[in-house]
Amino acid sequence: YFIQPEQFSADHVKISGDDAHHLIRVMRAKAGDRVIVSDGALQEALVVIRTLEGGEVDAEIEERLPMDREPSVDVWIAQSLPKGDKMELVIQKGTEIGAARFIPFSSERTVVQWDAKKEGKRLDRWQKIAKEAAEQAHRNRIPAVDAVRNWKGLMELAAAADAAWFCYEKQDAQELRALIRSALLKSATAGQGLEAGADKSGAPGQERLKLLLIVGPEGGFTEREAALAEEAGCRAVSLGKRILRTETAAMVGLTCILYEAGEMG
Ligand code: SAM
Repeated sequence: YFIQPEQFSADHVKISGDDAHHLIRVMRAKAGDRVIVSDGALQEALVVIRTLEGGEVDAEIEERLPMDREPSVDVWIAQSLPKGDKMELVIQKGTEIGAARFIPFSSERTVVQWDAKKEGKRLDRWQKIAKEAAEQAHRNRIPAVDAVRNWKGLMELAAAADAAWFCYEKQDAQELRALIRSALLKSATAGQGLEAGADKSGAPGQERLKLLLIVGPEGGFTEREAALAEEAGCRAVSLGKRILRTETAAMVGLTCILYEAGEMG
């Protein structure tokens, strides 16, 4: 369970709100049960429930757990809005694998008609999916889910990343592995981010490498978009010879990056 840092005291934690409700009503927790709590940043502990009263759970810290299950690089997945509930799949699986941030966007061939009036509700749901997947994967951070961007907003974000790659199934796309290796190497020599297999905690104050992976919609990117992305400094990358569904492409790209960064075991 994720709890606010102030809910941790030296030897106790308080769990309230939805999480307490989930523990009491759904999990039917009792005094003496053990759960793992995290403040999503610095503290994680195995706690023993002592009381469940008035919608609040009080638990005693039994053991502080060593942490940091976060990847040494931040992978931001920009996903062109897919059909149906595939965005949920991308967020859920991407969170388990280790994405740091999700950026839904609309592009020329995006099929989904985005209803701006429902955006708040959708974002809440996506953020909730990220939270639950982060809990299940025992992550220390809940990935952010951004509001839907247009192309211009996406390119602005690309400029803020250390490297931005757009997945392009056309022949002139570069091999993803080569780009990942060169970005990791560059950051290692600059003392930023981490080399594969190196200390994963990162020195305090050290910025993580931010890698933006942009995935197109069911119908792919138009040539115009590919040209605009290149102009904005993004590089076209290939995920192999086979054409993947948009949601598969996001997962494969993310996994390849984290594999090269030494994060997949
Ligand atoms: N335009 C294609 C078509 O209709 O034949 C397919 C688009 S594909 C289903 C959806 C998105 O997944 C693409 O825009 C691209 O970002 C990504 N993608 C799928 N396979 C890929 C591959 N082999 N290399 C790079 N990107 C890929």
